[in-house]
Amino acid sequence: MSARRQPSEERLLAFAAGTLSAPESVVVATHLALRPQTRAWTALAEAVGGAVLDDVEPSTLDPDALDLTLARLDAPEPPPIAASTGRTDPSLPAPLALFDLGPWRWLGPGVHVRDVLGPRDGDCRVILLRIAPGQSAPRHTHSGVELTCVIEGAYATEDGVFSPGDFEEADPSITHQPRVVSAEPCLCVAALDGQIALPGWLGRVLAPFVRL
Ligand code: ZN
Repeated sequence: MSARRQPSEERLLAFAAGTLSAPESVVVATHLALRPQTRAWTALAEAVGGAVLDDVEPSTLDPDALDLTLARLDAPEPPPIAASTGRTDPSLPAPLALFDLGPWRWLGPGVHVRDVLGPRDGDCRVILLRIAPGQSAPRHTHSGVELTCVIEGAYATEDGVFSPGDFEEADPSITHQPRVVSAEPCLCVAALDGQIALPGWLGRVLAPFVRL
């Protein structure tokens, strides 16, 4: 099974058009801040209105066009959403440093989660997930779409390794258990729509404790 490491074209175009939900925009903006080449493609989509690029893969875009667009970009694109005026965390990518953060909460051995306060759309919200080296997130599936971008460290699933800047999209058809494979903790930002679901009897026992 091959895995995308970047948002789908449809999601990038929705981001460029400003129609993506606020939580999903934060995760896409984080990916763009860490991946200038995708950012250049998105900027081009914004510039020409998207439709012309419907059939163009980011990887097949003319390198000169990428260079020209990159030259025009001197800072990460800000997320197209209103941020709180709270404290900033300069260690986080620019799109995340704008938001207040909730306290770290224990989710399981070596696994902590904190809320990114502000971006919300119905049940969809943004969290930061920090997992210690060698540890795994609980094996789970999803009641909605889950978008994840790696900020630091790396994790592996059946689809391979995800490193800083890599983007993973999961939905109710996917059950996975990300396992940290880096020597340092893995820090990710995720937009969750609905709850994660833990299969099996252990999941039912643990569910009240790991509710996000
Ligand atoms: Zn997941």
